[in-house]
Amino acid sequence: MPQIPIENLDKDSVLAWLLENDEAELNRLWQKADGVRHQCVGNDVWLRGLIEVSNNCARSCAYCGISAVAPRSKIYLMDKTEIMASAKKAQEYGYGTVVLQAGEDPNITGPWMADIVRCIKREIGLAITLSLGERSDEELKMWREAGADRYLLRFETSDEKLYRQIHPDLGGPSNRIAQLERMRGMGYEIGTGIMIGLPGQTWESLANDIWLFRKYGIDMVGVGPFLESPGTPLAGELGKKLRASAGNNQVPSDDLTALKVIALTRLLCPDTNIPATTALATIDPTGGRTHGLQRGANVVMPNVTPTEYRNLYQTYPGKAGTHESADVSRHKIESQILSLGRTIGQGPGTSLKYLQQH
Ligand code: SAH
Repeated sequence: MPQIPIENLDKDSVLAWLLENDEAELNRLWQKADGVRHQCVGNDVWLRGLIEVSNNCARSCAYCGISAVAPRSKIYLMDKTEIMASAKKAQEYGYGTVVLQAGEDPNITGPWMADIVRCIKREIGLAITLSLGERSDEELKMWREAGADRYLLRFETSDEKLYRQIHPDLGGPSNRIAQLERMRGMGYEIGTGIMIGLPGQTWESLANDIWLFRKYGIDMVGVGPFLESPGTPLAGELGKKLRASAGNNQVPSDDLTALKVIALTRLLCPDTNIPATTALATIDPTGGRTHGLQRGANVVMPNVTPTEYRNLYQTYPGKAGTHESADVSRHKIESQILSLGRTIGQGPGTSLKYLQQH
């Protein structure tokens, strides 16, 4: 059988690589992705300190353990003092960026978050990524003007029908791709991504997802396996129905597929920042993160959320690092990076693609 092309990939070759399971062939993919990573974004691994600001969410996404429909024992919203203390910790640890992530919490208002962004910029000076879900243009502009550098919003799947089944409208229609485009216009560095193995996700739609990362010239691409969250619609009847509809074409939510997606994303988007995600470290606690870093990834997002809140921010169960302190996560991650012969990036780690365009 002829080998699958590895240069100038077209969509058919992306699909062929996704379906490839021969170890020797896959080694070709891993080596190429690692080589392109080294050549295009270098040896540095960028660390972004993740602060899970609130687990309150008004939207009922069918997969998410902090959605409005998921069972939760306690709702929290960190206050400004707590957020500033976590950001300070990220700075002390040498991380160049903080990521403020939350559900679509109505208590996170435009002015409230703008004030926090300004304080972090003024008092700590780190790069700021926001990941607060679908938000109005008014809020997004306010936060950008306050100093937010980046916004992370995964489009989750490019299959429009599946997208609509798992993302209910709230106010206006749910449209993450449209928000990504508008945020680019506002000058944000934009990050997106998908879940791998969503019920109903087919191999063709997964190939299309990867294709779109390139088409939209995304600055950061985060991908990870879908992990079933108890009490959510995808853990129940809806999940069963969607899986049945994909039949033999259903993508598995496993580490191998996630690693293929990381490697292919690196080949199609050579200068993009790609994290080895927590979901990957959750599905494979011993090797997930290092394998990701060896197959195309160049970013890790260590958690700096106060320990008391971490087990309340359960987008999926068993999330890696839930029961360890920020300090323990930091040491673990740093030693994993150094053991691979990689270096820890100093500074904000802005995407090279973004820097070339601005
Ligand atoms: N409200 C924000 C942050 C959500 S959590 C937003 O919507 O962007 C960040 C990411 O976690 C989501 O984009 C989704 O891709 C991922 N996630 C949520 N539930 C998950 C699950 N059950 N399994 C794996 N990843 C999940």
